[in-house]
Amino acid sequence: MLSYVFPIYPNKEQKAALETAFDLCRFTYNALLEELQRQGRPDRGAVQHKIVELEEKHPELRNVYSKTLQYESYRLFSNLMALSRLKRNGRKVGKLRFKGRDRFRTITYNQSGFTFERKTEKRATIHLSKIGDIRVKTHREIVGRTRQVVVKRSADRWYIILQTNGRRTDLAAGNGVIGIDLGIEAYLTQDNGVRVENPRTLRECLDGLRAVQQRLSRQKKGSRNREKTKMRLQRLHEKIANKRKDFIQKTTTDLIRKNRFIAVENLNIKEMMERPYRNARGIADASWGMFLQVLRYKAGSAGCEVVEVDPRGTSMACSNCGAMHDMPLYIREYKCDVCEMCMDRDQNAAINILKRSSEGPERARAEDRKAYPMKQEASGFSPR
Ligand SMILES: [Zn+2]
Repeated sequence: MLSYVFPIYPNKEQKAALETAFDLCRFTYNALLEELQRQGRPDRGAVQHKIVELEEKHPELRNVYSKTLQYESYRLFSNLMALSRLKRNGRKVGKLRFKGRDRFRTITYNQSGFTFERKTEKRATIHLSKIGDIRVKTHREIVGRTRQVVVKRSADRWYIILQTNGRRTDLAAGNGVIGIDLGIEAYLTQDNGVRVENPRTLRECLDGLRAVQQRLSRQKKGSRNREKTKMRLQRLHEKIANKRKDFIQKTTTDLIRKNRFIAVENLNIKEMMERPYRNARGIADASWGMFLQVLRYKAGSAGCEVVEVDPRGTSMACSNCGAMHDMPLYIREYKCDVCEMCMDRDQNAAINILKRSSEGPERARAEDRKAYPMKQEASGFSPR
């Protein structure tokens, strides 16, 4: 099964309809959970039947596509199964909890109730029963037939996750949630402090490139030696491009395999911000763009969400207390004189990037999550 995450743009009425559908589905989930708790032994049939009862008592539930409402029973039992799996594995677990608004972030159209229609390469519409035709921004080819559509609410944005029966890659997203800072010193730094360095071979090639460029500039125009050097330069450029591609492929695969959510900087803004340094890092710039492009492309089908945030101030703000400090590029260590935190400047930036994303607040409740280890539920993704 392949997953594709696309942003959608509901209009005002559609937004209101979606909000209502989310509220009613959440209401149903909680009512079914209540029913489940009342039972001595879980009785799936009785829980299912409860939906019919609810619909009779609350006619407004008919505003939600019926199978979307029924999905809540599936969700409940999936969560229950996940919980008992943890228990079997010797983990200390609590009970299923009623869901507040913040913990209820998806509704699901399974098998029916939706039509996905591609308009152009980048535009499509999704018809959702009882909601309407919503504009979709697509950025990639979809492999396979769509079997399920998950509508996701994330802060003030809306997404659909198309799940198809296509098969093309063995790459599947992991469980981690990270923020990454793209830099010059290290290629990238994660919020947990893990750094990915530029590969040594690439650095060596780049050094070689500089030397060859210098030689070329000293050689007489039109001379045979100059032509030879030109050829060498070309080959070196190719070699560097290949090494960079390899590096990017490996790094992105690794990140996706470990994570289901990755917060990155919006490069357009970052570039604008740091324009004075641009020449010095021209090479890094090109590579970042390609890195993000490949990351997004692969993440889409692997079920990993890549979110871009505004990077302004992420280097200057203390990720612990929020105080702002001037941080010229040569200062590598972030030292906060307000809360006395001290860490690598890139890691500090990566934490801020994660905090700015939709998963930021979730992350802040890490303690909460430890006591209640239901990643699937907390992430808002539907169970597989
Ligand atoms: Zn601080």
